[in-house]
Amino acid sequence: MTPHLEKSAKNLFVAIGLERDHNRRKDPDWLARKMEDPESVFLPVRLSKVLVVDGETPSPVLLSPRQLASRKQADSAIFLGHWNGRACFAIDLDEKEFGAFEGAGKFRDLRAVAPLLSRDEGAILAYAQALAYWHRRNRFCGVCGAPNQIREGGHSLSCTSSRCQAAHFPRTDPAIIVLVTCNGKCLLGRQQVWVPGMYSVLAGFVEPGESVEGAVAREIFEEAGVRVTNVRYHSSQPWPFPCSLMLGFTAEAENEAITLGDAELEDARWFSRPELRQAVQSGSVKLPTPVSISFRLIEEWLEDD
Ligand SMILES: [Zn+2]
Repeated sequence: MTPHLEKSAKNLFVAIGLERDHNRRKDPDWLARKMEDPESVFLPVRLSKVLVVDGETPSPVLLSPRQLASRKQADSAIFLGHWNGRACFAIDLDEKEFGAFEGAGKFRDLRAVAPLLSRDEGAILAYAQALAYWHRRNRFCGVCGAPNQIREGGHSLSCTSSRCQAAHFPRTDPAIIVLVTCNGKCLLGRQQVWVPGMYSVLAGFVEPGESVEGAVAREIFEEAGVRVTNVRYHSSQPWPFPCSLMLGFTAEAENEAITLGDAELEDARWFSRPELRQAVQSGSVKLPTPVSISFRLIEEWLEDD
């Protein structure tokens, strides 16, 4: 069996060539030097968009410290780590700045552009976007409402109220995504909001007080009325849309009876491998984007014939 570390490394948005330098983030002098180092690079992000040099093979726009010299809040840059030997930062552009950097490239939706980027480029932009999102949503302290201040190169926020001083850390929402099988068939469902014909594996968020395996069993029963056993971990994938960690599983159903439950799905069906291949080929079924772990789970099952 392939070790899980290697399995997850195959998922898009998992960075391979990135050194996060976790232990250096707490040194403000080191960070300040890195921020001014002409070799350092800055990745601009704006909401769900990232700045790329557009074309058939796009690549992220890497701004130099000099290009950011006029920026008022240079200290709001988020340190990501060392990438190809260069210190790398994310900057979350506000509305005014958005226009100023547009000449350097084109702002494109990360999910759409990711398949065209190299794996590490997609991964580092996903990491940048997840942290920028967390900063955008945590400008103020959740305990007392005072403004937060950036710490540890953007990997922590601290409340500016001397009475509170609460520390806040980036959050990742765990979500499970499951390929359920029974009698050589796999269970796929569709939501009404998806493009016509699209089917995918079932997924849902892990709730507080619940194990991930418990979440697998609960979600599959809630959505499709199917009881599962033999829940097995497959691999994981950072999913910064906006801040999830997808935990991929396989599971076996006790039987094929489907009862749609919580209105999340408008349809759920069992597909044999020949049925699914034929449906995809004829265009009557569309699978999720190859960017996602859901596609990988389905693809691996189809190949495991
Ligand atoms: Zn506070």
